[in-house]
Amino acid sequence: MRKNIHEIRWNPLIGTWIIVAGHRGARPWRPTEKPSEAKTCPFCPGSPETRDLGEWDVIVLPNKYPALKPSAYEPPKPVEDIYASMAARGYCEVLVETPKHTGDLHDLSMEHMLKVVKKYRDEYMRLSKIDFIKYVAIFRNKGKEIGVSLVHPHSQIYALPFIPPRIIVELDNFRRFYRERNECLLCHIIDLERERRGDNRIIYENRDFILVHPYYAMWPYELHIYPKRHVEAIDGLTEGELRSLADILRMTTAIYNGLFDRDMPYIMAMHNSPCDDDEYKYYHFHVEFYQPYRDRDKLKYRAGIETGFWVFTFDGNPEEKRKELRSSCFKVSDKLDHMGECVE
Ligand code: ZN
Ligand code: ZN
Ligand code: FE
Repeated sequence: MRKNIHEIRWNPLIGTWIIVAGHRGARPWRPTEKPSEAKTCPFCPGSPETRDLGEWDVIVLPNKYPALKPSAYEPPKPVEDIYASMAARGYCEVLVETPKHTGDLHDLSMEHMLKVVKKYRDEYMRLSKIDFIKYVAIFRNKGKEIGVSLVHPHSQIYALPFIPPRIIVELDNFRRFYRERNECLLCHIIDLERERRGDNRIIYENRDFILVHPYYAMWPYELHIYPKRHVEAIDGLTEGELRSLADILRMTTAIYNGLFDRDMPYIMAMHNSPCDDDEYKYYHFHVEFYQPYRDRDKLKYRAGIETGFWVFTFDGNPEEKRKELRSSCFKVSDKLDHMGECVE
């Protein structure tokens, strides 16, 4: 028996890659639940992981239990019959957003958040240049409801040797739309939403971005951040646009926490274009937020119909959910410094 099996296997039934990481089975579960346990937090200043880094405000650390490693061995070939595998080569990083043990993105000052956004951009650019990397997945998990093991504010970056299936689906749809209409799908959607009168789906807007509760939301409080200008990936944003992105990210997490006046869990996924050798001019960069609650005290679970069949039910009235998000936007905008406007 190979104890620390580590490879990427092809699932021929759905045509996707699975990362098999034996060593991740030993990962600890929520080692720093309470702020009083900050002294054991690996991301707090003074921990063995950060001790030698001097003064810092935003840092990138290697993931202690990486799903992918740059030095991963090549799995034995050939595997049985039609089964396929490849080396689990890649990079898994943790982007620690602040030396402070608790809080969320909106608890960071605007200038600090801008540093975080620039770090996202820098890591995307750095990892994109590595020849075997085809996709840089930047994401942020928050809250025990979605299984986050560390409360210290952090995002994660996976540099993958393949394009993730969800991105492949989006690319196919963007490409088809572009071929048929000679127009970008998301540019079209942005125009549609901005021209809409009554039951506006835009919750917040600054100079360069809109925050939308999409018509096609799968989660009741799902929110998307769309850049108004057509840009494929975060490295195409100007200095001013990066600042606007920092602003709208802070507003988004503030809106979530303002919904029920408590710390809310969420998943953030940055959808950038891939970084293999192909061209993705038809793709439009955006950020998606999924929130596991469907109401104040009710969690929405990904169960049989969602996991077993990939069919989502939106449990709620989209107009009502929008109303809640909008009133949270107006409420938090009184307290938080921001660059744009909540949309009526
Ligand atoms: Zn900490
Ligand atoms: Zn576009
Ligand atoms: Fe997307």
